[in-house]
Amino acid sequence: MASNESKERAYRKLESSSLLQQTMFRYMLEAQAASEEGKLAWVTSGFPVEIPLAMNLGVSYPEQYTAVVGSQKVGPEVCGFAEELGYSQELCSYARAGIGSTDRPDDSPLGGLPEPQVLLACNNICGTVLRWYEAVSKLTGAPVFLLDTPPVQRRQPSHHREYVRTGLEELIDFLGEEFDTSLEEDKLQEVASNSTKAIDLWTKSLEACKHKPSPLNCADRFLAMAPVVSMRGKEHILEYYEALLNEVEGRIQQGMGAIRDEKIRLLWDNIPPWFSIYKFFNGLAKRGVVFPADTYTHAWTGSLEGEDILNRMVDIYSNVYLNRGLRAKVDKMAGLIEEYHLDGFVMFSVRSCKRYSLGQLVSKDLVTERTGVPGVVIEGDMVDSRLFNEAQIETRIDALIEMIE
Ligand code: SF4
Repeated sequence: MASNESKERAYRKLESSSLLQQTMFRYMLEAQAASEEGKLAWVTSGFPVEIPLAMNLGVSYPEQYTAVVGSQKVGPEVCGFAEELGYSQELCSYARAGIGSTDRPDDSPLGGLPEPQVLLACNNICGTVLRWYEAVSKLTGAPVFLLDTPPVQRRQPSHHREYVRTGLEELIDFLGEEFDTSLEEDKLQEVASNSTKAIDLWTKSLEACKHKPSPLNCADRFLAMAPVVSMRGKEHILEYYEALLNEVEGRIQQGMGAIRDEKIRLLWDNIPPWFSIYKFFNGLAKRGVVFPADTYTHAWTGSLEGEDILNRMVDIYSNVYLNRGLRAKVDKMAGLIEEYHLDGFVMFSVRSCKRYSLGQLVSKDLVTERTGVPGVVIEGDMVDSRLFNEAQIETRIDALIEMIE
């Protein structure tokens, strides 16, 4: 009882969460229905989902599903199904949980994802997704389409842009042939407009966290981002993002923060440990530590509106955080620290995600040099709790807090 009361005191629950749950429930039902109709695409998180949506396909996001596997604390078990098939523990735990749950859906949360008819991968987040989807293709028979987006170092050369644009056109042809359909320009405009509106509302809620005290904490944002990741382009998610923004603005007007006694403001870098998301952030909330910004949930930004939507897609989907060089990552972190008035930063070195975690030790020093605030690197995993040493992490965070205090 005492610990429940202290949880209540440290952290404020969002009232809009019930609408979020309804929105996600609808997403699952729609995906199931699409699969039954033979029209379901599994897509990676940085895929230009507006195209399959405009071609009337349903979509499911295996990365989001595997985050659910993590949050239900069955990561080791479901990853283990893939390990039994011969996949190494070194492979990303999203991929392992995705392959494991495809192989043994009845032993996985929610009975696994509905069966896909196509697998759409974009390597703007990593190369692992292609191998992962190829493994799923062997299990389900669904064909894989890869949208190849070469990494962007500084400016994107024009031949890169043309190459990615050709990839988008090939995607339209591929889906047209697979589903005997075509892309209507009006429908693409409508989906792109809904996508832009959702991203705009989402960005406003993120930017409201510049305010002191911050109206949202890290766990709030990681849960609230789900519809903008998986359903951007659908009109009905706007209702949820309007409700979230209203709540965020209401908190600001009343001087209420996400945590009750904000003392230290930190930046979070990388995916969170899903199996410990509340315990970890609420534990720090009790000590007055809030995370008003993070590099992950800020990845869904930008407008798709314009005369040539495919060109806007080339810009947005080529320039996602993980497809850019170390310099851009340091710029992003330093910018967030300055704009959100942060006192320090925590970099989660995720064993699974080499693309996100590689170079963090170097970036840590560069970010401190640029901003003057201290940071710490902690190690672990987002789904596989076997790779998470809580005591070691606590010691490192304690050291950071002492430096700031
Ligand atoms: S390696 Fe990283 S970016 Fe790729 S699927 Fe795994 S977590 Fe996502």
